[in-house]
Amino acid sequence: MGEVAECDIAIVGGGTVGLTLALGMMTFTSLKVAVIDPQLLRSGAESDLEHNTPQFDARCLALAGHSVDFLAALDVSVKQLSACDIHDIQVSDAGFIGKTYLRAGQLNMARLGIVTPISHLNQALASRFSQWRDEQPDRLIVFAPDSVEAARQHQSQVCLTLSSGKQLSCRCVAVADGGRSPLSQALGFSFSSTDYAQTAIIANVSCEQPHANQAFERFTQHGPLALLPLAADLSPAHSGGLYSLVWTLDQHATEFVQRLQEDDAFFLASLHELVGAHHGRFTTVSERHVYPLQLNCAERVIAHRSVLFGNAAQTLHPIAGQGFNLGLRDVYDWVMQCQATEQASLAHTDDSIDIGEWRHLQAYQARRADDRSAVISATDTLVHTFSNHHWPLVMGRNAALVLLDHIPMIKRQMARRAMGYRERAQPLQGDL
Ligand SMILES: Cc1cc2nc3c(=O)[nH]c(=O)nc-3n(C[C@H](O)[C@H](O)[C@H](O)COP(=O)(O)OP(=O)(O)OC[C@H]3O[C@@H](n4cnc5c(N)ncnc54)[C@H](O)[C@@H]3O)c2cc1C
Repeated sequence: MGEVAECDIAIVGGGTVGLTLALGMMTFTSLKVAVIDPQLLRSGAESDLEHNTPQFDARCLALAGHSVDFLAALDVSVKQLSACDIHDIQVSDAGFIGKTYLRAGQLNMARLGIVTPISHLNQALASRFSQWRDEQPDRLIVFAPDSVEAARQHQSQVCLTLSSGKQLSCRCVAVADGGRSPLSQALGFSFSSTDYAQTAIIANVSCEQPHANQAFERFTQHGPLALLPLAADLSPAHSGGLYSLVWTLDQHATEFVQRLQEDDAFFLASLHELVGAHHGRFTTVSERHVYPLQLNCAERVIAHRSVLFGNAAQTLHPIAGQGFNLGLRDVYDWVMQCQATEQASLAHTDDSIDIGEWRHLQAYQARRADDRSAVISATDTLVHTFSNHHWPLVMGRNAALVLLDHIPMIKRQMARRAMGYRERAQPLQGDL
């Protein structure tokens, strides 16, 4: 058997959540970290802009306030994100009076969140990751391109055999593979899933009127759609508004979906019909990307010396833009707990910290339970409520929107929750 590398935490998957976890562990602890990924952004700063170009048609993420704060604390350059602030969100039901606004100004907030192309975010994460790897190559080891072939859970460590034949021994495995590998099942995790029988069409659209930093969530007879404002520098030649569109459609509306994908003029006219004249005419649409939508949830996020993070723990419907924000809060709580454990063991002059211990994992799971189940069930309820055409429900949701518009206190609480700020959770350390 060849040499066995050792680390405290082996992060399987260097996507958006896995990279953030690696940065969190490097920033807030002194533990040893390994990252394994079959296609890790060419391992950091050398990531190839040609293949990772933040083009007009790239997927965009709405990041809540807490996520932005956390990224800043990881020294991820927000300037690199080509971010656009969201000042207002209008929620409405097409063809009905129900409408409500969340306005940052009225809630005494500078902004409700930001929107960034995911490729820009990955680029910014990768370049910070690369800096850490250059500065501390013994503490941050990278196995890429590589993946886990086999995992053996022993009492005090997990031994991973990689496809390259390399061996890695760790105190704890963090699975952040987006739920795409058989590893979590092999480690003993089980999942429940709901097929929504819906697809999401993702595209970027431009229109005549500037967006004035306003986002829209609109419920239509063809399913809910969200328009997120994008920074003007993503398309400097265009003088109007630029939006990222997420449009949820019934999976069985195959002909309609196909026509939307193939016919730009039909797409723009359909959008205009559903959204109205508020934006002026929609003038261009990028290539469309179609995603099948499912809710996929791990029953428990911990198993012996293993933890699930991000989409590996829960893959949500994109209707409320909460998947990555929730994944970041997973990472934040984990990192803060590791930091506290490390400091406590240093105070007791005990230098053998074991972050894979069952009681450590259990404490983490308990800490995440409320936030996780609240976001999963709120997203699921939203999907069912707003994809429904039954009259009593349509009337009910309209009444709720009208009512909500007149109760600022509820709106304030809703906005704080949507931004990822929790009433009880306190940062343990650091200046978040
Ligand atoms: C249409 C759409 C819109 C969305 N909008 C928003 C939004 O506005 N706001 C928001 O918060 N969230 C949003 N989300 C959700 C968000 O995109 C995801 O939650 C987030 O990107 C998940 O990141 P991840 O790192 O967990 O998974 P991924 O990004 O899937 O990363 C998984 C990583 O694991 C690696 N990997 C795969 N297999 C293996 C293996 N065998 N071994 C090792 N590594 C492996 C992959 O190479 C990859 O790097 C949206 C999702 C969709 C589909």
